[in-house]
Amino acid sequence: MKKIVSGLLLLCLTISMQAQEVKKVVHHKSHHVQTQPMVYICNSGSAYAYHSSNGCHGLGRCRHTISRVTLSEAKNEGYRACKICY
Ligand SMILES: [Zn+2]
Repeated sequence: MKKIVSGLLLLCLTISMQAQEVKKVVHHKSHHVQTQPMVYICNSGSAYAYHSSNGCHGLGRCRHTISRVTLSEAKNEGYRACKICY
């Protein structure tokens, strides 16, 4: 009888552990959905555009450092979509 009880306990423990595992995966997924698209901006004072790729010709003219930021960050900084890569 004792064996059955401890066996049941173990089963319950395993199920609750699996439930936690599922919770973690769901949380990870929702976090992934919230991830912003990333864009590239030139850190010169005259740069005004953000780029979808860091291989864009417009970005190639940049003589300063290039930053990878979220789309909303670039917009907040006053950057507009590049006419070459958008
Ligand atoms: Zn561009």
